[in-house]
Amino acid sequence: MSSSSPIFCGRCLAPVKLTIDASWVSVIVCPSCGQTDTFSNAFKEADEYAAAYFRGEITNERGQALQNNPLRRFRFVPRYLVDKN
Ligand SMILES: [Zn+2]
Repeated sequence: MSSSSPIFCGRCLAPVKLTIDASWVSVIVCPSCGQTDTFSNAFKEADEYAAAYFRGEITNERGQALQNNPLRRFRFVPRYLVDKN
């Protein structure tokens, strides 16, 4: 069974880690740039990225489209739209 995260950092395209903060809230943390948010917010943002992608607002050139997307930057993206291979 794969232990890869279903969520990737939208900035570094690295798989994020799930941790529990001091208040016992589940948080997502990018091990590369330290970007963080709650589990639910991160998933919501990844879903918004997927919705924009399927509306054709984002072309899926690995990495580049995320960095250069003129509409907005997504801090978290779903793995299946990043890790296509
Ligand atoms: Zn990152």
